[in-house]
Amino acid sequence: MTDRIEVQAPAKINLALDVTGVREDGYHEVRMIMQAIRLSDRVSLRKIARPETVLKTNLPFLPTGKGNLAYDAAELFIKSTGIQAGVFIEVEKNIPVAAGLAGGSTDAAAVLCGMNELFETGLSDAELQALGLKLGADVPFCMMGGTALAEGIGEKLTRLPDAPSFHVLLVKPDRGASTKEIYGRLKLSDDTVHPDIDGMIRAIEKEDRLGIAGRLGNVLEPVTGQLCPEISEIERQMKSFGCEGVMMSGSGPTVFGLFADRGCASAAYMHFKVGPYARQTFLTEFLRG
Ligand code: ATP
Repeated sequence: MTDRIEVQAPAKINLALDVTGVREDGYHEVRMIMQAIRLSDRVSLRKIARPETVLKTNLPFLPTGKGNLAYDAAELFIKSTGIQAGVFIEVEKNIPVAAGLAGGSTDAAAVLCGMNELFETGLSDAELQALGLKLGADVPFCMMGGTALAEGIGEKLTRLPDAPSFHVLLVKPDRGASTKEIYGRLKLSDDTVHPDIDGMIRAIEKEDRLGIAGRLGNVLEPVTGQLCPEISEIERQMKSFGCEGVMMSGSGPTVFGLFADRGCASAAYMHFKVGPYARQTFLTEFLRG
């Protein structure tokens, strides 16, 4: 029996994000194509004698108690399973915060899955996903990984075949975006340009790279773009390096570029690494499920 465990917590991007309506309770109905990427936080869990949750992270501005999704996940796990346990959690954040990459959600997913293993509590995948959903709509996908269609408020997941791999260049403008604020500002109208989600699914099934890159779309991009004009400038620069497609991920403001060619991806990476976004530039790739 082990008393510690280390879990990788991968980020996600949205290859396509559509909002189809608003429910009576204020939640938005979405259809999104989710794709896990290799850029990950590292979450270490260790049993401790005192029955409490202790959290440490390398980012001083993040809460280390209630409000940190990793902490909230541990407390929820302990309450739901009834175990008498204490846990020390260390989160090494590599995923930028408030970036549209599900950084907090993936930490929560890693804590729930990691604690289930560490404390040998035997929860099923479905039970873990149900717990995860209480913490955030993206948490269940973060447990599943790979490529998936997310519907409802993001919780109805359908696994898709792994999308053909791309190199992924991520560049995050300085400001963060509040998911709640961006959805709140979205006004759906007849002029809203909706991405072709069904066409994207077909392109993934056929491993049609050009079809995928040609159907990137995000109904939230014009909303975040109004607050963050750097988005379109970053996209313009990425395109000049020959990427197959560019788009903003989630509620943003991170921009991703999909590159089939490793050399083009590296050249673009070097370009951004010496510019104003140097510290928020990452070169990664799709992560298979
Ligand atoms: P999504 O793509 O799911 O909308 P995001 O990438 O936009 O998420 P996060 O990085 O999850 O956003 O951060 C959103 C907010 O959550 C931040 O303002 C941060 O203070 C808070 N937060 C709580 N716990 C964490 C965590 N473990 N990692 C990052 N942010 C966290």
